[in-house]
Amino acid sequence: MSDERLQNHWDGRVLSRYTSYLGLHPYDYPRCEWYWNAHAATLTRVGRHIHEDLNVPGREDSLLHGLRLDELERAGVLVRADVDEVAEIVRETREAVECAPLVFRVFTTTGCNASCPYCYERGIAVQYMDDTTADAVARYCIAAFKSRGSKNPVYIEWFGGEPLMNTDAISRICEALHDAHVPFRSFIFTNGMLIDKVPLTTLRELWNTDGLQVTFDGAAEEYEAAKGVPQGTFERVLSNVEHALKADLRVVLRINYDGDTGRTIRLVDILAVRFRNASIKARLRIDVVPLYGSDKEIPAETMHAVLDVYDYLISLEVADISQVYSLGPRRYGCFMASCGGHTIMPDGSLINCSHLAKAEQRVGDVFHPGQVDSARDAFIRRDFPSKCLECCLLPICRGGCRAAELGLWEGHQCHPYKNVLRRVLLKMTQFDECCNSDIIGS
Ligand code: SF4
Ligand code: SF4
Repeated sequence: MSDERLQNHWDGRVLSRYTSYLGLHPYDYPRCEWYWNAHAATLTRVGRHIHEDLNVPGREDSLLHGLRLDELERAGVLVRADVDEVAEIVRETREAVECAPLVFRVFTTTGCNASCPYCYERGIAVQYMDDTTADAVARYCIAAFKSRGSKNPVYIEWFGGEPLMNTDAISRICEALHDAHVPFRSFIFTNGMLIDKVPLTTLRELWNTDGLQVTFDGAAEEYEAAKGVPQGTFERVLSNVEHALKADLRVVLRINYDGDTGRTIRLVDILAVRFRNASIKARLRIDVVPLYGSDKEIPAETMHAVLDVYDYLISLEVADISQVYSLGPRRYGCFMASCGGHTIMPDGSLINCSHLAKAEQRVGDVFHPGQVDSARDAFIRRDFPSKCLECCLLPICRGGCRAAELGLWEGHQCHPYKNVLRRVLLKMTQFDECCNSDIIGS
């Protein structure tokens, strides 16, 4: 224990380095002080005297002893002084990275029927997965499943390009997985234009589809202009989304936010009217995502604007406050930087992640599964840069985007809420399930 920690301890316990003081909540009654612990993911209310004691170690009339200390330790506010919390997180992350669930992100094609200006696949040759490669992909997935010796289903993400421009490859891989009795679920990242071309039985019973994500950049003509697609496409995509929701699939509508709040709100208003049916809302989620930029952190101003849009969605009852304002701890960061993550290109090449799809960034191929380049091992998250080791969000973020950290991709590395943390936490205090229900020392 360091001298400083020795001086500031109560019966062998110290304030956790991941405990943040939030202050008095303006609407809280009875008045009490709020603390948040990122590692335990707890919001805790303490009475005024306990708060004072936490800030003045060694007070003679301190209430911090016995059961009070136990309560504060259970809430994560205090930890045992001999625990090295950072080392614990590094160890937890390394373990979680080694046994992370199997996720295969499969590009069925790099071709697309839209031309979004921000697409990071610009300049990448258009390829479609052929039957020979689809068979090799299936063998690769089956072998990975068997080598795990686990019965947990594998997860497949159909990706592109527009993955539904090559449904033959999807069906061929799924048939092989069914034949080999490999349990699997799948999810489709699509622009939504071709969903109606896939029979519902295929989606549900052959592809084992749980859900899909459809991206929007605006409404009607604004959407069509941004994507470079014919008039009427916006309406067609909305109908396709309804079709998927009626088939009991989960749908994530992703709104790319580029700073034009007016355009985003016009879109939100249309989506809210269209999907106001309660049973449909249960399967629908709307995500508002800032377009990536070269800053390692999303500027606070941008995230405040995004949260303003979310608050509007919540007021229209098409977003759930507990999903938007959520900061649950994670065992590891991006799954593509874990041993369970596999990203496969249409020609069977393996890459470290979908944003690193240039020919020179390939690390192996599904035809030679044992021969993976050392660049793959270097990409796996087993350590953190010093800025993460010092960061109060480490238990939540676990190092963020690995490609951005390594300078391989110009995107945001940090957790999106890093620069709006106080706003998010104060909002979280307004709904009960994430708070310790009792006030300690009231
Ligand atoms: S870009 Fe970053 S967050 Fe996205 S898959 Fe790659 S490493 Fe993960
Ligand atoms: S990536 Fe950023 S937010 Fe995440 S742990 Fe590192 S410094 Fe913190």
